[in-house]
Amino acid sequence: MYRTNTCGELKLDDAGKSVTLCGWVQKSRDLGGMTFVDLRDRYGITQLLFNMDTNRELCESARKLGREFVIQAEGIVRERSSKNLRIPTGEIEIEVTSLNILNRSEIPPFTIEEDTDGGEELRMKYRYLDLRRTSVRNNILLRHRVAGETRKYLDSAGFVDVETPVLIKSTPEGARDFVVPSRMHPGTFYALPQSPQTLKQLLMVSGFDRYYQIVKCFRDEDLRADRQLEFTQIDCEMSFVERDDVLDTFEGLAKHLFLKIKGVEFSEPFIRMPYSEAMENYGNDKPDLRFGMKIKELTQIVKGRGFGVFDSAEYVGAICAAGCGDYSRKQTDELTEFVKRPQIGAKGLVYVKYGTDGTLKSSADKFYSPEDLKLWAGRMEAEPGDLILILAGERKITLSALSELRLELGNRLNLRPADRFVPLWVVDFPLLEWDEESSRFFAMHHPFTSPKPEDIALMETDPGRVRANAYDLVINGVEIGGGSIRIHDAGIQKLMFRVLGFTPEQAEEQFGFLLNAFRYGAPPHGGIAFGFDRWVAMFAGQDSIRDCIAFPKNNSGRDVMLDTPAAISGDQLDELNIAIKNRK
Ligand code: ASP
Repeated sequence: MYRTNTCGELKLDDAGKSVTLCGWVQKSRDLGGMTFVDLRDRYGITQLLFNMDTNRELCESARKLGREFVIQAEGIVRERSSKNLRIPTGEIEIEVTSLNILNRSEIPPFTIEEDTDGGEELRMKYRYLDLRRTSVRNNILLRHRVAGETRKYLDSAGFVDVETPVLIKSTPEGARDFVVPSRMHPGTFYALPQSPQTLKQLLMVSGFDRYYQIVKCFRDEDLRADRQLEFTQIDCEMSFVERDDVLDTFEGLAKHLFLKIKGVEFSEPFIRMPYSEAMENYGNDKPDLRFGMKIKELTQIVKGRGFGVFDSAEYVGAICAAGCGDYSRKQTDELTEFVKRPQIGAKGLVYVKYGTDGTLKSSADKFYSPEDLKLWAGRMEAEPGDLILILAGERKITLSALSELRLELGNRLNLRPADRFVPLWVVDFPLLEWDEESSRFFAMHHPFTSPKPEDIALMETDPGRVRANAYDLVINGVEIGGGSIRIHDAGIQKLMFRVLGFTPEQAEEQFGFLLNAFRYGAPPHGGIAFGFDRWVAMFAGQDSIRDCIAFPKNNSGRDVMLDTPAAISGDQLDELNIAIKNRK
């Protein structure tokens, strides 16, 4: 037997016991008469004591232990004289009577401490060492617990875990597919699933009634922000359900996870907010509701005073930052710079400072009287001491810039604490999105999303106005999951493909299997998928999902540890019947 205990479990009650521990040398301290070694494993850290007086030889070998050596130590549990109450084993130490070096280690390329000296690139290259660090390891352990609790909840609700294939045909989530060449069928390719969307719908046709899978999905996207080329979804589908059945079931999952993982209880139902309301009030389809600061439209009341910027604008809107009326010139300049960043896209910023003495001062004073400003302040429900920030321009861009400005102020004013969670469902998304460039409609969610029954008639006459029976779960401004009630009627599915600009032949070629299946009794069904990595990152209080994935890829999609993607040999290419163009 290698060990009797782990490095995380011995307490004062165990004093006097003979034990054997195994682990890695975190660090050692040589104090002349005594040498202390911190021994680490997955469960924690235990202090080992080597005493010069009682065992000189042993103490000398302990002094020679290097960082990350793997050792086995036998000894007696003793009460520590100077206790470390920050760790669970901090009241005891092991007085070692025998030491066995199980393996040596080269000096690691960075210190395996919380406060490591290793930069991102180096830690990723040696990810297996990075994973020894407590915070990274804890994220992975947390991930395991979230998966376990998810399974527990879904199992008890009658969901069946069914695996779906990874080598499939193109799926419709709107990203680029990863493809895999077929050796047996030269010149043809499999696609990796962007999600198991069509397969889970087929399982409903098969009568499985409730399906789930914690599953890898693959999307070949340029990596903006915090994305991974391969990521994990909690993918679910249910039969004989309407929207609210799905929302209730998965609100239950969300509440279960919050309770079990974070100890947070939600007694109220989650807010259900139509997309149009989210866009109008927050400029965003994933509003962060930890704070108010709603956007209000001022278009009508600011026009007609000769101020070109407002007069020519399609939309003028504002937010009111409570208590910021004393912002300095420097601070308002910073906000102006912020909204003018190319990725935010506003042309400028007009502000109104509402002094605590009740006076109103604006950066557009030239054009507006104090009465005008008073009217705006009234519309904004501003109080003395507040700051009104106004943006103007094209409606979509301006709302989105106001949304960014609102979040920026939320950060500046500490209105977005990481330990407070405000979930909501955003519902009634538009079914279709118009794309100027290709002048055609795209499915906002995917082409199997059902229109709201009352909007079906608009499909032929005014497709842009059709609302989808789709929903997203949003928490703290992050989209955690999304799904929809599906089309289960072959006729409506065909109509949908037509509106999306597919010829019947194209629809048949790409999704014939689904249209066929729908001819054999498809039940009404709907489902949802959650971004598992993102959910774990949120529970872990991490901004980046990368920290919650054991072996992630970097921002340019590379695995620097495996050193991939990489070239393959000429023989392999020949076997696959593939020639590389412009090989470097
Ligand atoms: N397949 C969808 C997605 O990956 C989720 C769903 O509609 O169930 O976003």
